[in-house]
Amino acid sequence: MTYDQKCIACDKCVEVCPVEAITADPLQGRVIHRDKCDLCLKCGEVCPSGSIVIAGEYMTVDEVVKEVMSDEPFYKNSGGGVTVSGGEPLSQPTFTRELFKALKDKSLHAALDTCGFAKWEVMESVLEYADLVLFDIKHMDAGRHITGTGQSNALILENARKAAAKKRLWIRVPLIPQFNDSEENIQQLAEFGVGIGAEQVSLLPYHEWGTPSYERLGRTYPLEQLERLEDSKVEKLKEICEGAGLKAVIGK
Ligand code: SF4
Ligand code: SF4
Repeated sequence: MTYDQKCIACDKCVEVCPVEAITADPLQGRVIHRDKCDLCLKCGEVCPSGSIVIAGEYMTVDEVVKEVMSDEPFYKNSGGGVTVSGGEPLSQPTFTRELFKALKDKSLHAALDTCGFAKWEVMESVLEYADLVLFDIKHMDAGRHITGTGQSNALILENARKAAAKKRLWIRVPLIPQFNDSEENIQQLAEFGVGIGAEQVSLLPYHEWGTPSYERLGRTYPLEQLERLEDSKVEKLKEICEGAGLKAVIGK
């Protein structure tokens, strides 16, 4: 992550970069050429001002569990637990499975938040120690799903069916204007949810909160031109879900 306004122009990052991916421009300040960057993270290690920050850290399962258990009284009092989200937890299935197993040993509730795009054997192995699945479904139409994500929804819907047969499952839908917010799509999704035994659907209206993160990563936010959905429209979609017999919540 970069915070350009914090840069003090010391040029330490320019000097340490092994592939000359950072240049000091008199007008633009320090510029990272991400196409050259090999992610060695050395610039983040030497930056004295917090202008380049290494986001995230490598942790073992034991270290994560220790961190989690420091809040044990909170979990006990609230009835809460741990949700492993992403990115995509199924891209690190061994770690996620071992973490869930360790959380189970501590009698903590564990939820998997997934896009559902993985081999079933992988998902099944991770689900063994999970209590709840938060399952993203982005579109019920295969063609529109390919347009929006580059992949068909066939494997995802099949995995949702299988996962719901094993564990409690909540469907989550990021509602993107002009992509998946039609009444027809939500009707189909609600009927699908009822059919597989999902407990509820969470309708998550599009927002622009990701924009600053994209800027800090030097990337262009692809949905910048989209406008938020009207509350009345989201309420209507919620009613459609409820009419189909599926509990619906908005924004969580
Ligand atoms: S992370 Fe990228 S930009 Fe930073 S020092 Fe390494 S190669 Fe250079
Ligand atoms: S090391 Fe940090 S403060 Fe120094 S030039 Fe690079 S980004 Fe700026």
